Amino acid sequence: MVGWLLLSNLAWAQPARIKVSFVQPQRPVGRAMHDAFSNDPNRGLQTLMDVVSNEFKLPRNLDVIFAETGEINCWYNPSKHHVVMTYDFMEFIIKDAVQNKSTEAEAIQYATGAILFTLMHEMSHALIGEMDIPVVGREEDAADEFATMILLDAGPQGHEILGSAADWFGVMARNQKDMAFWDEHSLDQQRLFNILLLMYGHSPDTYGTIVSQVVPRNRMAKALHEYKTKEHRWNKLLIPYTRGN
Ligand SMILES: [Zn+2]
Repeated sequence: MVGWLLLSNLAWAQPARIKVSFVQPQRPVGRAMHDAFSNDPNRGLQTLMDVVSNEFKLPRNLDVIFAETGEINCWYNPSKHHVVMTYDFMEFIIKDAVQNKSTEAEAIQYATGAILFTLMHEMSHALIGEMDIPVVGREEDAADEFATMILLDAGPQGHEILGSAADWFGVMARNQKDMAFWDEHSLDQQRLFNILLLMYGHSPDTYGTIVSQVVPRNRMAKALHEYKTKEHRWNKLLIPYTRGN
């Protein structure tokens, strides 16, 4: 009896974690990605999710499942408490990278950035849903912004992902035939500039030159102030949900 009590107490005291798992796919491209992820000696995806687990007070464990589903999509399911990243979506991104980039190195960077930004975007939906963060306004914009703020604080690798994600939205915008004004997401052009202006607001010295080629000076000036306000508001909003409080 005492043993059971001790065990249940220990289980209760364990902080909730995000666990990454990989379901064996059927198609060859999916299988190649599956092998690369599951044999990764650095367990990179799990390490990234550990950083998120360590930062936030999740109320329960959350799964990130890489699987083949036949859908070119990724999503957070609030009733199942999981994020699904499909190999089908990743195959689509890799084909897109090969079509739009001239070298293999560029294609790998582009595809990696697009996939990891999407993972962080879905993870942001999951954090908002699991912790019941009271986001107002458009949740798709909030998920992009939350993901971008986390990646901006994650050092050079986070910045590299954001650069590639901005590039990906730019490519999608150029290839877009109809503008889906009814969509719950902002337009790809807007998603591109939202990321770029947050990057500039976070590190004006690093990104000033490149951003000044595509954004008017008066908008850039506003973006500096905007970043500080957003950082303050996210930090204040997240106080009850972050560890160490
Ligand atoms: Zn979304």
